[in-house]
Amino acid sequence: MGMADNINSIKDRIEKAAKKVGRNPKDILLLAVSKTQSVDDIIKARDLGIKTFGENKVQEILAKYDYVKDVKWHLIGHLQRNKVKYIIDKVEMIHSLDSIELAEEINKRSEKKDIVMPVLIQINIGKEESKSGIYEEELGTFIEKLKGYKNILISGIMTIPPKTDNDDVTRNYFKRMKELFEGLKMIKGDNIDIKYLSMGMTGDFEIAIEEGANIVRIGTGIFGERKY
Ligand SMILES: *Cc1c(COP(=O)(O)O)cnc(C)c1O
Repeated sequence: MGMADNINSIKDRIEKAAKKVGRNPKDILLLAVSKTQSVDDIIKARDLGIKTFGENKVQEILAKYDYVKDVKWHLIGHLQRNKVKYIIDKVEMIHSLDSIELAEEINKRSEKKDIVMPVLIQINIGKEESKSGIYEEELGTFIEKLKGYKNILISGIMTIPPKTDNDDVTRNYFKRMKELFEGLKMIKGDNIDIKYLSMGMTGDFEIAIEEGANIVRIGTGIFGERKY
C-alpha cells in the first residue's frame, strides 16, 4: 500500500471506531508521527491532507521545520529543559510535560516570545521505569504547582501505555486515562483549559478512540516502517 491508501485506511478506521461509540470522527485529531521520516515523505503526507505532525526529538523538528511549509508541529517525546528555547516558537503543542522544572522553562521561554504554549501532562499510566511521565497519584499536586505559570495553558493529558498483546489490559489503561481526564475538567484555574486526551498509536488507536481519545498519534500506520 502507498501512503494515500494508508491514510485513507487509518481515517476509515478512526471513523468506524468513533461511530461505534457514538462519537463524531471530526472531534478526533489525527497526528501523523513523522519521526525518522524524510522531508519528502512528510510533504507527501501534507499534500494528501495531513496538517499536523508529531516528532519526538527537538533536533528532528529543527532539521525539518524550514523545509515543510503550511503544517503544524507537536512535540511528543521527552523534552530536555535546555532544548526548550529551540522549539518554543515552532511547535503548536507539547505533549510531554513531565516535571515542574520543565514547565518553568517552557513558561519562561514562552513569556519571552509573548506566546502561551498549550501543554499536555504526560502520565506514566503503567508506572514503567523506562517511561517518562508522572504517576496518576501525583497529578493533583502537580497541577497545583503549575497554576502560577501564565504562559502555559494546561490543555490535557497524554500517555503511552505498557506494551501488551492483551487488548483488555490496554483498554483498562485508556479507561483510567479517561477518568483522569474527566476529573481534570473540574479543576479551575486561569491557565487550565482541559480539552485533549492524547492516546492511541498505530497498534491501539481504535481502542483509544472507543475510550475517549481525541488526539491519536499514528506513525507506522501512515508512513510504514521507520527509517533509522
Ligand atoms: C513513535 C511514537 C508514536 C507513533 O507510534 P506508531 O506505533 O508508529 O504509530 C506515538 N506516540 C509517541 C510518543 C511516539 O514516540
